Amino acid sequence: MKVFSCPKCSHPIFFENNICLNCNSKVGFSVYHFDFVLVDDHHHHSIYCTNYARDVCNWVVRNIETDQFCLACSFNGLIPTYEDTVNFEKWREMEMAKHRLIYQLLVLQLPLIPKSKDQINGLSFDFLVADNTSNRMTGHANGLVTTLLDEGDPVHREQMRKQLSSLSNTSRALPTRNRPLLLDATL
Ligand SMILES: [Zn+2]
Ligand SMILES: [Zn+2]
Repeated sequence: MKVFSCPKCSHPIFFENNICLNCNSKVGFSVYHFDFVLVDDHHHHSIYCTNYARDVCNWVVRNIETDQFCLACSFNGLIPTYEDTVNFEKWREMEMAKHRLIYQLLVLQLPLIPKSKDQINGLSFDFLVADNTSNRMTGHANGLVTTLLDEGDPVHREQMRKQLSSLSNTSRALPTRNRPLLLDATL
């Protein structure tokens, strides 16, 4: 993953950082600038995604009045509730991996459309808690990626990587490309 730099002092910024460790500026990733920007709580531009308050996201939205979530978080369908602390924490880890994936797909300039904007061709992620009463399985269908949260982390990530790799070949949301998606380095 690329190491970014602070827009204010040029100190290195890592992908999950939300503060510059050198000058203490609040920073966030902007898909519009495709870089880290300074976050300004007092103006209606470059402010954090709603999931920042849950320590889940460090991306920014342009206008909080129209964009509650950043692009990466806007792909979420079902997620655990905040009160479900164990599964919420598992989701938080998966969400960070998903942010890296979305970033890589953007680098590859693949069109990414949330299901909320295009129900037929869009992409959506459901993070579910497995139970014994249903046949929930990790997988994907018609652009809906389902991930079970009670699987061990290494296995979990590998499964997510596999399903997303196959998704990139089959989903209408992601057109077939000649070059393979290199997801191993990103998750
Ligand atoms: Zn700085
Ligand atoms: Zn977000």
